[in-house]
Amino acid sequence: MDRISIIIPCYNEQESIPFLKNELYKVINSISDVEFEIIMVDNCSTDNTLNLMKELKQSDSRFHYISFSKNFGKDSSMYAGLKASTGDYVTLIDADLQDPPELIIDMYNILKSEDYDCVAAFRETRDGEPFLRSILAKWFYNLMNKISDSNMVNGARDFRLMKRKMVDAVISLEESERFTKGIFSWVGFKTKWLPFKNKERVAGKTKLPMYNAFTYAIRGIVSFSTAPLFIASIIGFVFCFGSFVFFIITVMKQLIFKEAVAGYASMMSVILFCFGLTFMLLGIIGQYLAQMYLEIKHRPKYIVKDSDINF
Ligand code: UDP
Ligand code: MG
Repeated sequence: MDRISIIIPCYNEQESIPFLKNELYKVINSISDVEFEIIMVDNCSTDNTLNLMKELKQSDSRFHYISFSKNFGKDSSMYAGLKASTGDYVTLIDADLQDPPELIIDMYNILKSEDYDCVAAFRETRDGEPFLRSILAKWFYNLMNKISDSNMVNGARDFRLMKRKMVDAVISLEESERFTKGIFSWVGFKTKWLPFKNKERVAGKTKLPMYNAFTYAIRGIVSFSTAPLFIASIIGFVFCFGSFVFFIITVMKQLIFKEAVAGYASMMSVILFCFGLTFMLLGIIGQYLAQMYLEIKHRPKYIVKDSDINF
């Protein structure tokens, strides 16, 4: 009998969990001959999330919980859930029902009947999402696909069903600064993309405000592409070349045409521009250094405070 593990990262999801439970039961009851395990990962929620998880565990032994000592972020909870999972097939799903659980059934049927290792969901519409966020996300995916060897679909979610061999590959990438979408793409395997219409959160508020989404995007770029460093070198080269040409022209004007070059204001703007650019390029290098610094410390990706499973 096949076994499917459902992993759900949760942070302050007390309002969503009752809805989630109903939807999960619909899925579980609609596939016969499959055993389920549901692993809910609590990111040290400050509301009643953990107690609700424990209640679910008590009422149904297929439910499990892992609770962290602090909020280590969604990516760390997905990693912990993947490590703890024992299924032949593993799915990652958000607690707020923005990832429609009923798709798990379609995903499973595809993996059983077609030659794929993973079925992943993407939002074909972003209705209900702030306009600026949609535009920035679109740019981000275009940029990522250009400057890295990953192939990310605009609107891709972490929501997917994977076969065990892909799960093991994802776990084998042990970086602490995890950009899971990039990792899914990096490990390869054959993925089928399933479109669905964007849904609003069933309850509660987003835990990933715009600023976090922005820093997450920067982390993604730094994790999966060194192109910004290359571009920084090219910009440096172009400016050196430009200043050399400018120097020659200035000397020529002075020597041949005896024309003193005036222009305090233009000089100041060039100097300020160059300093600005230098700091920006240093910032890019700094991002890479920071990520190396965080990686070489080899800190654990999460610390478990309470759980009903040993993994
Ligand atoms: N989440 C988490 N830790 C966090 C932030 C979010 O485990 O630090 C969970 C959250 O409970 C939800 C999922 O990750 O199940 C997606 O978060 P959210 O819905 O807030 O993000 P959005 O859908 O707005 O991008
Ligand atoms: Mg959400």
